[in-house]
Amino acid sequence: MARICVLGAGIGGMSLAYELRASLGKEHPITVIGEGELFSFVPSNPWLAVGWRTPEAIQIAVAPHLARKGIDFVSVGAEQVLPAQNQVRLRDGRTFDYDYLVIATGPRLAFDEVPGLGPQAFTQSICTTPHASAALSAYQKFLDDPGPVVIGAAAGASCFGPAYEFAMILDADLRKRRVRDRVPMTFVTSEPYIGHMGLGGVGDSKGLLESEFRQRHIRWICNARISAVQADTMTVDEYDADGKLHKTHELAHRYAMVLPAFTGVDAVRGIEGLCNPRGFIQIDAHQRNPTFPNIFAAGVCVAIPPVEATPVPTGAPKTGFMIESMITAICHNLRAEIDGKPALAKATWNAICLADMGDTGIAFVALPQIPPRNVTWARTGKWVHLAKVAYEKYFLRKIKTGNTEPVYEKYILKALGIERLKS
Ligand SMILES: Cc1cc2nc3c(=O)[nH]c(=O)nc-3n(C[C@H](O)[C@H](O)[C@H](O)COP(=O)(O)OP(=O)(O)OC[C@H]3O[C@@H](n4cnc5c(N)ncnc54)[C@H](O)[C@@H]3O)c2cc1C
Repeated sequence: MARICVLGAGIGGMSLAYELRASLGKEHPITVIGEGELFSFVPSNPWLAVGWRTPEAIQIAVAPHLARKGIDFVSVGAEQVLPAQNQVRLRDGRTFDYDYLVIATGPRLAFDEVPGLGPQAFTQSICTTPHASAALSAYQKFLDDPGPVVIGAAAGASCFGPAYEFAMILDADLRKRRVRDRVPMTFVTSEPYIGHMGLGGVGDSKGLLESEFRQRHIRWICNARISAVQADTMTVDEYDADGKLHKTHELAHRYAMVLPAFTGVDAVRGIEGLCNPRGFIQIDAHQRNPTFPNIFAAGVCVAIPPVEATPVPTGAPKTGFMIESMITAICHNLRAEIDGKPALAKATWNAICLADMGDTGIAFVALPQIPPRNVTWARTGKWVHLAKVAYEKYFLRKIKTGNTEPVYEKYILKALGIERLKS
């Protein structure tokens, strides 16, 4: 019998717990340690921030669903991972023993790296569901007296898709309300060009997203480092291709939403051998930590080098399907490990991303995510908006039923040449 602990009850952790149960059978106890009772479907946060969703529609109390699959749930959160003792210290002071630990804690949001950034200061966030709810309240107030809007991503950010989504969704919502003419919009990003996405571009993502921004009258500043935010202005340093300061902008804003850089969460940051200097979990090709071989990791918490050096630092994103491929590899490797066989499965890290734009959308496919790639394309269309809504419904159902890879997902994605494991 092996005691398995999954740390984090988000997109990665929940899928992982269900997939592990299916792969290992009932004889191995599985416990998920989360923070609070609720699972949040993070990709719907941009909709929540303009009032197109309610928190109740995108959150699920997980304990009863996990219990039906024989998975225990602890909601108090982890204070500290203690890898040398094979223990997790919980926030209520208890300790939890494990034989195998899988870390899926997502990011810590590094608002502290820019003065004035974040919901405690002068910018909104859509990174968590409570943040998106607060962003909605601020938006409702803003609608009483609209003015300039700034949307963007800070230096060192690795997650750009939701910033583009939110800019387009906000544009669509303001047009619906017939107040878009009172709202000059600027997109500010650390990417070297629009559509880079931390990926060196995907197909013609540059052309497609620039065209969308032109169509929607959204100005942009690339190679941008937000140096400070005040109540009604944002100071943005724009760099040239050689990394030299080109211009400093003082942007007026009455509403701003900026995605911060990420680091690893406090429960793991600073643990030697486990994390890199930013607190992301170091893993080998099999999702396993080289220093503590009974620890695996999946999702936004893993360390991945940037795809390329950029004048203002950017990181590589970790998107939903890429995370699912990590999870499948971990399940195969834990099964092998428990059976006394070598753990050799490798995730494909294929990226499929559906970016909603309110009334239409852009789909990106990058196989694999890190170039050079075998397949790369980006397409726009109303079908992407519908596909994203379907993905939301499908994923929330998956969390309730525990069925992590239904037949249609397996065969449709396979037919498109998209697989989770390297052969
Ligand atoms: C706004 C937004 C929209 C996105 N949209 C898309 C999209 O449309 N498509 C796509 O492919 N990707 C998207 N992504 C990227 C990615 O898929 C998501 O970030 C996804 O939620 C990452 O999953 P995760 O499991 O790594 O982290 P999360 O889903 O963030 O889950 C981590 C969990 O760990 C918990 N946790 C943290 N610390 C502790 C602790 N100490 N103890 C216990 N629990 C802890 C957190 O509370 C959280 O529940 C989006 C990201 C953001 C921020």
